[in-house]
Amino acid sequence: MVFPGFAGSEVLYGEDDKRIIGIRTGDKGIDKDGNKRPNFEPGVDLMAKVTVFGEGPKGSLIREVGKKLGIFDGKMPQVFETAIKEVIEIPESNSFPSPDTTVLHTFGHPLGLDTKGGGFLYKMKDNRVALGFVVGLEYEDPLLEPYQAFLSFKKHPLIAGIIQGGKVLQQGAKTLPAGGFYTMPKLAVDGAVFVGDSASTLNIQRLKGVHTAMKSGMLAAETIMTALEKEDFTSQTLDQYQQKVADSWIHKELYAARNFGQALSKKGFGKFVTIGAQYISGGRGFVDPMPIHADSATLTELSNLSANPPESPDTQDLDGKLYLDKLTGLYLSGTSHEENQPCHLVIPNPDLCMTECYDKYRSPCTRFCPAQVYELEQDDNGSKRLKLNPSNCLHCKTCEVKDPYNNIIWTCPEGGGGPKYSIV
Ligand SMILES: Cc1cc2nc3c(=O)[nH]c(=O)nc-3n(C[C@H](O)[C@H](O)[C@H](O)COP(=O)(O)OP(=O)(O)OC[C@H]3O[C@@H](n4cnc5c(N)ncnc54)[C@H](O)[C@@H]3O)c2cc1C
Ligand code: SF4
Repeated sequence: MVFPGFAGSEVLYGEDDKRIIGIRTGDKGIDKDGNKRPNFEPGVDLMAKVTVFGEGPKGSLIREVGKKLGIFDGKMPQVFETAIKEVIEIPESNSFPSPDTTVLHTFGHPLGLDTKGGGFLYKMKDNRVALGFVVGLEYEDPLLEPYQAFLSFKKHPLIAGIIQGGKVLQQGAKTLPAGGFYTMPKLAVDGAVFVGDSASTLNIQRLKGVHTAMKSGMLAAETIMTALEKEDFTSQTLDQYQQKVADSWIHKELYAARNFGQALSKKGFGKFVTIGAQYISGGRGFVDPMPIHADSATLTELSNLSANPPESPDTQDLDGKLYLDKLTGLYLSGTSHEENQPCHLVIPNPDLCMTECYDKYRSPCTRFCPAQVYELEQDDNGSKRLKLNPSNCLHCKTCEVKDPYNNIIWTCPEGGGGPKYSIV
């Protein structure tokens, strides 16, 4: 049975409080004050001999499993990149750098060599291209705005020439797990296994994770078959999945790329030397393992308290067709949510926002969110407050990753809400 439109909101544990026995779906029909609406429908408990967690990057259920069962203990911190992507229809007459060009990967512009990130362009059928820009969330400048970097990337002559006269059909944003091998959690516990991006199987060297996610799912399925035959769903049997991953080409690929993300993070031209060393040494490089720092810990404080985000020249050049503001892009993501529901973005300590965070970083959530969910409002007396538009949320999870105070917790909104990407 497939249950579309139901979000998993809670992990269920057995009597020993350690064995996972299923998940609870979220309640539907709760209003924004927490009261039941006439259409209230309680969540249901989905019980399973083995629960497979495949929530993609920064899952909200695996986060809680991590806290309770320590699956991330002893690993390097999970780190992420945020990607903004569009599907653009271009005129038939537009040309690519060569007739054979189907894929372009770039880095550097407009971030320079000190900030990790780059772009991609994939040729699709029907005169369409998939165009995206990825920013490593370990960036240090609190005034950086990934969406503006994406717009600048689109205006680089190489890209602008390919897409000129085009029209954006769809836009979206999502994080991808960039830590790889050294950030992979324990892959099995009593009653559960973890697959795909949730298990950090993406290969950051190739910027690809579909193949490893699928393979991890296949190996998990084989293990579950064995567990069914043996009628043993404890980690004693499910740990075979961990071993199968270790024996498979997933391990080979990820091990060879184990320091690649860290090498890309090096500043200046040292980056090229470090990346080169990865290729020559099969991923070992000069230091193995190279350290990884949590994305929430990397922003530098603004020393100049009068500093304000620059008014980007890009905002003057938006045409609503090929170069879009955030809200037009959001519209093209098809995002919708039930408006009358509790805010799914939980801010445990709202006082921090306008005191510490504004003073030290000028409220970076208003910039790193690609969907304008966070906005600064000013009242007649000049005092500022942070306003949230949760129904804009693209579910990219950037805010939970990058908030410098870890003061944003992303929870699942009412099932069925979110972006509706339709072009594949
Ligand atoms: C812009 C971009 C471009 C990419 N390009 C490529 C590429 O060209 N090739 C490639 O191989 N890889 C690419 N990747 C990476 C690839 O998309 C991922 O590695 C892959 O999708 C991971 O698959 P997954 O099943 O683990 O997670 P996902 O594809 O993220 O799927 C997880 C699903 O679980 C749902 N979910 C999460 N939490 C809950 C919950 N609590 N309850 C119910 N549902 C939930 C999510 O909504 C989502 O639908 C790209 C990633 C991005 C962001
Ligand atoms: S609120 Fe958070 S998860 Fe939602 S779009 Fe903005 S950054 Fe992404």
